[in-house]
Amino acid sequence: MNSNKALFLFDIDGTLISPGITARRLFVEIVTELTGKKIPLEVQHVAGFTDPLILKDMLQRAGIEGIELNDAIDKFFPIYYERLEERYKAAADKKIYDEVGNLLKELSEEKNIYLGLVTGNMKRSAMIKLTPFGLERFFPVGAFASDDPDRDKLPPIAVGRAEKDWNVEFQNENVFVVGDTIHDIRCALVNNYRAVGIARRDGDKEKSMLKSAGADWVFDTLPSSAEFKTIANLN
Ligand SMILES: [Mg+2]
Repeated sequence: MNSNKALFLFDIDGTLISPGITARRLFVEIVTELTGKKIPLEVQHVAGFTDPLILKDMLQRAGIEGIELNDAIDKFFPIYYERLEERYKAAADKKIYDEVGNLLKELSEEKNIYLGLVTGNMKRSAMIKLTPFGLERFFPVGAFASDDPDRDKLPPIAVGRAEKDWNVEFQNENVFVVGDTIHDIRCALVNNYRAVGIARRDGDKEKSMLKSAGADWVFDTLPSSAEFKTIANLN
């Protein structure tokens, strides 16, 4: 149906950009300051998880529980935002994936395609990560871990905001979550939206993981805008 309007909700880390190690280092640094314990944080602790859940897991691994846990979470984020803002700007290991700039520009010019974010970052850290690449302008709406620490709750929040802001209605089958982990796929499927998996690392292994998680499409990198139109059934 050519009257369809499609909403693509993009994950950030590993999908649009590779943020480098700055954020992960900061989690370790600040948790060490708050708890006196150095808790390691590997990729498997973070990929696909939301920031508040990553933090909670680290604090629990440091033996922090109960009221102290909430207290530490409240203290963490203001320090995190301030240091991330400063250090991320200067970080040489962050990068935007090659195809992203042109793709978003082309998609944003499509009349029936709308763009948003669904990310495990807090809103403020999402903007800190996107701004150096000028990507924030493509995403007037989104849902963030600061809205809810449970990623599965985020896509409907983003859809609600998109419908309100643009005064359009999206059918479930025209809402697509685009992301690089099984958590992105799951948060689409549990809400009856559709999932586009991007397997940038580990090639076949990651592709089959995303497929087993139920991804409707899986690509090595973000596909062309023409491919996005095909996915959205707009050709
Ligand atoms: Mg990701």
